[in-house]
Amino acid sequence: MKVVMLGAPGAGKGTQAKKIAAKYDIPHISTGDIFRANLKNGTELGKKAKVYMDQGALVPDELTLELIMDRFKNDDCKNGYVLDGFPRTIPQAEALTKALAAEGQKLDIAIDVEVSDERIVKRMGGRRACPNCGMTYHIETLKPQKEGICDKCGTELIVRDDDKPETVLKRLSVYHEQTQPLIEYYANEKILLTVDGTKDADVVFSEIVEALK
Ligand code: AMP
Repeated sequence: MKVVMLGAPGAGKGTQAKKIAAKYDIPHISTGDIFRANLKNGTELGKKAKVYMDQGALVPDELTLELIMDRFKNDDCKNGYVLDGFPRTIPQAEALTKALAAEGQKLDIAIDVEVSDERIVKRMGGRRACPNCGMTYHIETLKPQKEGICDKCGTELIVRDDDKPETVLKRLSVYHEQTQPLIEYYANEKILLTVDGTKDADVVFSEIVEALK
């Protein structure tokens, strides 16, 4: 099964993507996570991506496509995947459609997790991340057991540069400009499912599972 998650940054598509990946035993591929891992490891790709990420801008399509096409070669992708944060532009979506068509394949579903900008700004301001293992928390809705400390690895939690208020606003405007058009793109492909991202994550997930049946 091949799934694409759509929605603004902070809409909760990562949470749903993880649940889908676990239930259907397919990899959860987050381009943001891959870029962050490269950044942490100081790779050339990471250095190039950092400039854009820190500003809340998108990494150029060319670089992103190279990274994702390489990831698809991995053996774990043979039964499908759930893509989280990719595609993010029309050229990326077109490149994905083309790459799949070349193999006689296509996407099964694109899931748009809908949340208003106002709520997103509130959510992201409270987000805390572990710089070591990548776990994310929220100061109100998903607290770590010990304030400011990662449950999983004990590292001190931080506010990611791209979760800072000024960057969040920039990322939202980038989303509306460059990524939102994908909703129409996948609606035209007749594979779009829209879910209400303000509902409880488990409720949203059961709606997704129902649609996937
Ligand atoms: P995310 O964790 O998905 O919000 O991604 C964090 C940052 O990584 C974004 O703000 C972009 O700078 C970059 N990024 C992730 N995925 C993509 C993509 N598909 N295209 C371009 N840039 C991306």
